[in-house]
Amino acid sequence: MNSLFRFRRINGKGNSLENQSNQYLEAAFQASNDGLIVYDKESQEVITINKTISRIFELPEGMDLKGLNINRFMMRYLSGESPNFTKLLNELNENWTGEGLFTTHQKNTFYGLVNTNILSLDSESRFRILSITDISASKKFQRDILAANEKVEMASKSKFRFLSTISHELRTPLNGIIGTSYLILSKTNLPAEVNKNIEVIKYSSQHMLEIVNNILDFSKMDECKMALNEKPFNLFNCLNNITGSFQNLFNEQNIKLITNFPSVELENPEIISDEIKLSQTIKNLLSNALKFTNCGEVVLSVKIVEKSESSLLLNFEVKDTGIGIPHNKLKDIFEAFEQVYNDDLKRKYQGSGLGLTISSELVRMLGGTIEVESIVGKGSRFFFTISLKRFIQKLSDSEIREVNPEWEKKDIKGIRALIVEDNEINASILRSFLKKWQLSIKEAATGVHALELLKYHKFDIILMDLEMPEMNGYTTLRKIQELKIDVPVIAFTATLLDDMNSLITESGFTDYINKPFKPADLKRKIQKYCERKIDYV
Ligand code: ADP
Repeated sequence: MNSLFRFRRINGKGNSLENQSNQYLEAAFQASNDGLIVYDKESQEVITINKTISRIFELPEGMDLKGLNINRFMMRYLSGESPNFTKLLNELNENWTGEGLFTTHQKNTFYGLVNTNILSLDSESRFRILSITDISASKKFQRDILAANEKVEMASKSKFRFLSTISHELRTPLNGIIGTSYLILSKTNLPAEVNKNIEVIKYSSQHMLEIVNNILDFSKMDECKMALNEKPFNLFNCLNNITGSFQNLFNEQNIKLITNFPSVELENPEIISDEIKLSQTIKNLLSNALKFTNCGEVVLSVKIVEKSESSLLLNFEVKDTGIGIPHNKLKDIFEAFEQVYNDDLKRKYQGSGLGLTISSELVRMLGGTIEVESIVGKGSRFFFTISLKRFIQKLSDSEIREVNPEWEKKDIKGIRALIVEDNEINASILRSFLKKWQLSIKEAATGVHALELLKYHKFDIILMDLEMPEMNGYTTLRKIQELKIDVPVIAFTATLLDDMNSLITESGFTDYINKPFKPADLKRKIQKYCERKIDYV
């Protein structure tokens, strides 16, 4: 008589019809892929086991566990390192599912998914059934996937770290090259040939900087490291700053830069968004428009599509009269490294092919989609629409004036500036520009030296490197604040971070400037923050 049938008899039930169904039951019991143990609820003694239990526990031929206490079974076969050890050892009298680690009779280990349940033969069933499924293969698979994921994550982290370090290291010497070329070019009476060559150096190094920045952004995108950093800001100041920084480049190439912002239509131009991502997108589009336009104009417009108390739906558009893009390439240009005119031999337009990939991701994060329309030979139009929350706050008179700031016209001659910079090349470039603008300068190569100078001299502005050995810019600023000296401090940094703005201003810096800096940007910051002081001079 087979085991399950026997066990049904023990339970005191059975007639001839049942006998047949018991045979089916027995067959199913034995054929199950799960190891099954039936035991008595009261005495805890094993009544029967199926063949799978014998197989997965590698029991010797003919070994029967009948009569063995279920807790003793666990004591014998449960591994000391098993998850749910106590539960499996002592508390099998309630319905439960969980994992366990078992050691077989042959001392091999396997992971099992354990389930205990009442065996409902009738209303007052005395039996419980314990099933153990060998899940070692899927556990191994899980572990392998986790290990593989960890490896990928590590590789991707080290790629990101490598790119950030390299980009930082490259930006520092580039600062030297770009700054020096600006300096040489600012000298009059240069022989035309020299002038032309220096222009090439400036152009090439700026291009290299653009690539370095793009690669860093792209790897951040790849790593999903880009996050929105939303804050209130004045959109019209932001747009003016962008066009201000492009004006010279447009003048040099004799292309008209036309702007069209509805500043007056807005009672309150403060909006909440990620200023850096929005400006980076507009800068990328403007820089492409300039690069691919040989004559004519580029128009940057911002239109209000919808306006409510709490939000603005704005359409941004950069339109050029450039070379245009063939219809069949309009989708491809948003893919990484795609360039329309990338024939190596005829290569005329430089770029990394990453600008639009990055821009479209930035716009996606801002809640929109970049679109393009273009006619070859006539020009292109890149546009996107995004909804921006309005920052409801009454603007002060001075903030309203910011749209066309008076300070932009200020003369900075005579301003007393303190340069705090450990790198001699960076310091010498900064020094040369400040001298050219006739500022009165003192210099410190360390934070400690700066603090000494501040004890004996008055300054209208401090220009301080963040990445200095021994005492970095943040600590030096904290010590300046402890001395209760009220002076605008502009941080200089070669690090590009999404949240640089908040990082720096929250530490108490008045503003920051990225290295390599554009002289015009630096001058604007000095004009802006030394406004009141100049009035006294
Ligand atoms: P990059 O400009 O560095 O090559 P982008 O991703 O910014 O990379 O642009 C991809 C390609 O799209 C460019 O190489 C160019 O062929 C095309 N493109 C982008 N903007 C314009 C434009 N305003 N006019 C014509 N072609 C453009």
